[in-house]
Amino acid sequence: MKLRRLALLATAFGTTVPLSTACSSAPPPTVAVAPAGTGFGMVIHGGAGTITRATMTDEMEAQYRAVLEQALRTGYEILERGGSSLDAVEATVRVMEDAPMFNAGRGAVFTNEGRNELDAAIMDGRTLQAGAIAGVTRVRNPISLARAVMERSPHVMMIREGAEAFGRELGHEMVPESYFFTENRWNALRRALEAEGLPMPDRPTTAPPSDDGLTLHEDDSDRKFGTVGAVALDRHGNLAAATSTGGMTNKRFGRVGDVPIIGAGTYASPGCAVSATGHGEFFIRNIVAYDICARMTYTGVSLDRAAHQVVMQRLVEQGGDGGIIAMDAAGNYTMTFNSAGMYRGYIDAQGRSTVAIYRE
Ligand code: ASP
Repeated sequence: MKLRRLALLATAFGTTVPLSTACSSAPPPTVAVAPAGTGFGMVIHGGAGTITRATMTDEMEAQYRAVLEQALRTGYEILERGGSSLDAVEATVRVMEDAPMFNAGRGAVFTNEGRNELDAAIMDGRTLQAGAIAGVTRVRNPISLARAVMERSPHVMMIREGAEAFGRELGHEMVPESYFFTENRWNALRRALEAEGLPMPDRPTTAPPSDDGLTLHEDDSDRKFGTVGAVALDRHGNLAAATSTGGMTNKRFGRVGDVPIIGAGTYASPGCAVSATGHGEFFIRNIVAYDICARMTYTGVSLDRAAHQVVMQRLVEQGGDGGIIAMDAAGNYTMTFNSAGMYRGYIDAQGRSTVAIYRE
């Protein structure tokens, strides 16, 4: 049985893992990460897109893998000592926000006017409490401010200067806009604007004078996705989800994507937690994260099946690129994406982690 479980887990990084159902009338689980009540685990993503081996060097791959591994370990340490899934997903996302290669926090992409506008959301599956922020330009760790909106205000979402003023009052770290300037993302904006025959905005006077020395995956510079996210199940059986992003390269300033829209890019309930990455407009129109959880609840399908229906069928039919990570209350998880690759990883209750990038 144990061997069978490991064998099934080993296939997890192709696309999805066979999973159980959250509905009591449904068939028993085919794979459980750990025995219910004692198990915990976490799944993360660092964005989905046209990520292939052919376009990645060993050095770049090592950089991505190292941060994904560090993010997983950060969450694991919290879960292992009995901390909440909420603490774990927040801390994990912060690690990826601080890494310049992901499109969140420090490595956020540029809007069409050459600024960085960040969105984030977090949700506690146990209580259905949620917090989100959109369009902030100075917050170092948007995921923590989203959590503050959830826990320290009566609201669910705050935007732009209002969100930042709230963050300042609470002592959240603010950074100059130049903190978010990376040469790779700036060049990506140039290419996107050139493709549309549009002029480039002036380089911010505060931008660092030379290259930041970061070698990003080529597609990372041009592709429009790259959000980070985490879902976790803690020892107490509670689920949480968190997602953070710079949005899409060359988005119109003021555009808000799916990430901070509760139910679209981020959702958690007592039975299901989802974090998404991809072309946000499609994820908003299809209420992707909630739809996956709702299908489990209302139709009794497994988490994996629900994710497949939404990501591999519904979104594909519409041309909505991207993927999701999700966990259910039994610890089953899925990493389902319809793009060539998705930066992703999983860690189980024994601290065994796996990180993957490509489809195969
Ligand atoms: N979903 C994000 C957005 O549309 C982008 C991404 O996932 O990379 O803002």
